[in-house]
Amino acid sequence: MAHAPVPFLDLQRINDRHRAAYQAALSRVLDSGRVLLGEETAAFEREFAAWCGASHCVGVGNGFDALRLVLRAWGIGTGDEVIVPSHTFIATWLAVSEVGAVPVPVEPAPDCCNIDPARVEASITPRTRAIVAVHLYGRPAPMRELSEIARRHGLKLLEDAAQAHGAQLGGRPCGSLGDAAAFSFYPGKNLGALGDGGAVTTNDPALADRVRRIGNYGSSVKYHHEIAGVNSRLDELQAAFLRERLRVLDADNAHRRRVAQAYRSGLAGLPGLTLPASDDADRLSAWHLFVVRHGERDALAELLTARGVATLVHYPLPIHRQGAYADTPLARQSLPLAEAWAREALSLPIGPTLTDDDVAWVVSSVRSACDRLATT
Ligand SMILES: *Cc1c(COP(=O)(O)O)cnc(C)c1O
Repeated sequence: MAHAPVPFLDLQRINDRHRAAYQAALSRVLDSGRVLLGEETAAFEREFAAWCGASHCVGVGNGFDALRLVLRAWGIGTGDEVIVPSHTFIATWLAVSEVGAVPVPVEPAPDCCNIDPARVEASITPRTRAIVAVHLYGRPAPMRELSEIARRHGLKLLEDAAQAHGAQLGGRPCGSLGDAAAFSFYPGKNLGALGDGGAVTTNDPALADRVRRIGNYGSSVKYHHEIAGVNSRLDELQAAFLRERLRVLDADNAHRRRVAQAYRSGLAGLPGLTLPASDDADRLSAWHLFVVRHGERDALAELLTARGVATLVHYPLPIHRQGAYADTPLARQSLPLAEAWAREALSLPIGPTLTDDDVAWVVSSVRSACDRLATT
């Protein structure tokens, strides 16, 4: 009955697989004599753009910067509104706030974690400039519907793909489905660096050029600054590490998919438990997270902890109720679906090094916990 603890995500083990390659990458960077704006970053940008099916990739400092640099490059700022999902990681909203615009939250679809396209148009005003579509938990957002709405209203469509490296919609990878996409390489993401990193992908060469300039102090020629830019660059070392991780990303994502399938079949029909939507021929999740819902979420988490199964909540407090927005009208919005996610969501362990044995233990633990909660 006892089993070794199942960590939520074993980063140590994930990175240990690449120890020799990472050490070789460090030597390569040291030998090159360049730590910024060199060949490793350029090579990673080419490789990642190709992997996403986008024509351009610009490495930046982190995922948050990827979002805000695109918004800035589009000239979005004070007086503008940007549609965002009510249920997402706070970075999506903060990037909009950071450029001086107002995030306008739209609730998710009833059976999905992602923004409900049917609710978007009611939130569009003459000030609306863009929609940020988040592929939350790795599940592709309804991009066809959102593209159609964006086209009809002359809005930009930005993908927040920070959780969606390798997700696909209609056979096309996330990162090439909107006007631009923002990626994060935070260590815990499907494609993680050994520190912070991010990227913007786009098929628009002028946008790529502008994002690159804004992220490099507004400069394309050293010490000439055409725009008041900022400093946000992907460094050579992180790029070299990411090139190694990119080689195994398809295999890692395939492993995540198998874990998700095993969870879905092992946990089907349990009392009180709602499973995440399954993949189909059209929509392939990157399975960054496997998020179930349960009316007694905290009790479920406690029973799992007692069995050594680590869980997390993504996310426990809805963004409109965070202190960060306490002084804004957003704090008074009624967003019951976002609130319900915050109350009921529970993320089970998933990752490229989770073993069959771990998965079986998680399944039996969730089964016994749900049965117990149903009879008390
Ligand atoms: C992680 C994440 C970000 C931010 O990425 P950082 O690299 O941590 O700045 C943005 N949006 C979503 C949905 C994320 O999960």
